[in-house]
Amino acid sequence: MEFGFEPGQAKLRDEVDAWLDDVLSETGESPDAESDYESAQAFTKALANKGWIAPAWPKQYGGLEATPIEQAIFAERFAYRRAPNGLTSTAVGYVGPTIFTYGSEEQKAQHLGGITSGEVVWCQGFSEPGAGSDLASLQCRAVRDGDSYVINGQKIWTSSAHHAQWCILLARTDPEAPKHRGISYFLLDMSLPGVTVRPLINMADKHGFNELFLEDVRIPVSSRLGEENRGWYIATTTLDFERSSIGGTAASRRLLDDTIDLVRAKQLPLSSKQRTALADLVISCEVGQRVAYYVAWLQSKGGIPNREASAAKLFATELSQRVSNTLVNTFGLRGQVRTGDGREALGGIPIETHMRLTALTVAGGTSEIQRNIIATRGLGLPRV
Ligand SMILES: Cc1cc2nc3c(=O)[nH]c(=O)nc-3n(C[C@H](O)[C@H](O)[C@H](O)COP(=O)(O)OP(=O)(O)OC[C@H]3O[C@@H](n4cnc5c(N)ncnc54)[C@H](O)[C@@H]3O)c2cc1C
Repeated sequence: MEFGFEPGQAKLRDEVDAWLDDVLSETGESPDAESDYESAQAFTKALANKGWIAPAWPKQYGGLEATPIEQAIFAERFAYRRAPNGLTSTAVGYVGPTIFTYGSEEQKAQHLGGITSGEVVWCQGFSEPGAGSDLASLQCRAVRDGDSYVINGQKIWTSSAHHAQWCILLARTDPEAPKHRGISYFLLDMSLPGVTVRPLINMADKHGFNELFLEDVRIPVSSRLGEENRGWYIATTTLDFERSSIGGTAASRRLLDDTIDLVRAKQLPLSSKQRTALADLVISCEVGQRVAYYVAWLQSKGGIPNREASAAKLFATELSQRVSNTLVNTFGLRGQVRTGDGREALGGIPIETHMRLTALTVAGGTSEIQRNIIATRGLGLPRV
């Protein structure tokens, strides 16, 4: 058994850090693409120039064929350094792999280049007001009409739809079929007539997600991905890409390290309860990091982590909330001040993080759903 990077992996980590030193001095750090869209765009451009937008993709589609461990190294360093790389996460994580796995040659030629050049932003139109955890209940309809489909329905929580030029969309093409078997997968041009994006403002007062309304939107049959009514299976397969969740743990670790540095530098008085809370969280970050690298290691051995990926997501997101809650409390009233008049702790990051990360145990499958997956698929416990 080995713990630790091989020499090539350690070299990659140092190379990523050195590159981030340069680029972040220009774009600035920002954990949230929504807070500073210009920084996010500038960072995406720099990533594209470096050829690092999609490290895990095959070389023929503009990737580096990075191994799962190398991919985790990129993700860990970007998150720890607060690189503003959120604009490409949907396109690189889900959209591209779905297209190069299931797309026609025309679809690959049309879409993959725009992702690796960082020019095209994608959003994910899956959830609906009545279909989140039970996604297969979705009601958005696509009705075939000659060479087109006509789409009507509503999506919700659509992150970055206000920046996106394209959207991966699930819609029901056979309302008579059992619910998982009547769904198709589409690539939707967001500029088409009948597409309306309405902002939703989150509790951190940021515009990150949206409602998406589709009214008689006509799209060509050629923008369907894969076979008609097989969309559910395409959607579940693509959700398996990039699931180590190491970024969440690395961001938590950074917040803790900054706090510990500040407490040391200013010799802030901590109660023993506060001290032990910080020690506990550092231990949890180390556990989260190991779990995440274990998921990447399993992938590198050809395995398809399922229970393990759910455990990593669950652990990382719940940990990030514990970290931000503890830090807000550690700094007392200053921990609750957000804006920069000098009274806020750590530049207001703990409270910003607390408000932003509350949603993380809902996004991408709630904690309850992850526990269900671990209990049923992982432990073989009976479904109720
Ligand atoms: C920040 C953020 C960004 C998002 N971005 C996108 C996006 O870009 N595109 C997109 O399509 N969607 C997006 N979503 C939506 C997200 O996928 C859903 O919110 C999530 O799947 C939960 O669905 P829901 O909100 O409908 O809650 P529901 O499914 O209605 O769940 C409500 C509560 O019931 C619990 N529950 C439901 N079913 C079960 C069960 N079987 N067992 C136990 N408990 C259960 C849930 O855990 C939850 O606590 C985003 C969400 C967030 C918070």
